[in-house]
Amino acid sequence: TYVVTDACIKCKFMDCVEVCPVDCFYEGENMLVINPSECIDCGVCEPECPAEAILPDTENGLEQWLEVNAQYSAEWPNI
Ligand code: SF4
Repeated sequence: TYVVTDACIKCKFMDCVEVCPVDCFYEGENMLVINPSECIDCGVCEPECPAEAILPDTENGLEQWLEVNAQYSAEWPNI
């Protein structure tokens, strides 16, 4: 899965949402998140993010953000 990180906070761009083929972005408390069980790992959102907030979960140190993405996408609306 891909993971949205804190660089998204207060970013107003929604380019990632528009390109996602499976519509798996959710509106979190103060940032967008990706539902890890819906993301198909296509990677098209990563280069679209002007804040460079989206990373593949294969990168180190993203455990905390993966948890945030899973939690928020379960509790907040799909966008
Ligand atoms: Fe959507 Fe693909 Fe990004 Fe996953 S990697 S959130 S499926 S655009």
